[in-house]
Amino acid sequence: MLFVTHLAAAAVVGRLSRLPTVPLAAGAATPDLIDKPLGAAGVVELYHSIGHSALVFAVLVPLALYSRLGVAVALGWASHLLFDVVHVVLNGRPGHALFLLWPLARSSDPLGLPPVAFVRHYLWTPSFYFEAVLWLALLAVFIWERRRGGLAPGMGG
Ligand SMILES: [Zn+2]
Repeated sequence: MLFVTHLAAAAVVGRLSRLPTVPLAAGAATPDLIDKPLGAAGVVELYHSIGHSALVFAVLVPLALYSRLGVAVALGWASHLLFDVVHVVLNGRPGHALFLLWPLARSSDPLGLPPVAFVRHYLWTPSFYFEAVLWLALLAVFIWERRRGGLAPGMGG
């Protein structure tokens, strides 16, 4: 998924869960903010590594048990990983979901594209169309709620 879609998903999760949006968005952004620079710098050979590993929940779950803020960060992070799994499955690469097990396991044929090349590769794929439908649905809800007379707190005005 595109980075901005992860942020939009965090906003929707925040609205549905009534958890604070900023830590949700931080959790949803962090996997890419960790892994893309590491991949670009050549520290790791993949763009889905540390931040996209389900092993991060060994840290996030205890934080979630400790505070509402931790719940929001963990839920935002989980939404990112879920949408990335949906993305690779929709695009016919379910084996790439092994990134969740990094470094214990990984796909035998990882995509390994840097961010700009990834966007060019990604356009017009099934996942891209899925993402476009999500954005249209969000736009429809936004317009519908504005016509109803307002948005919930934190959704702009
Ligand atoms: Zn990602």
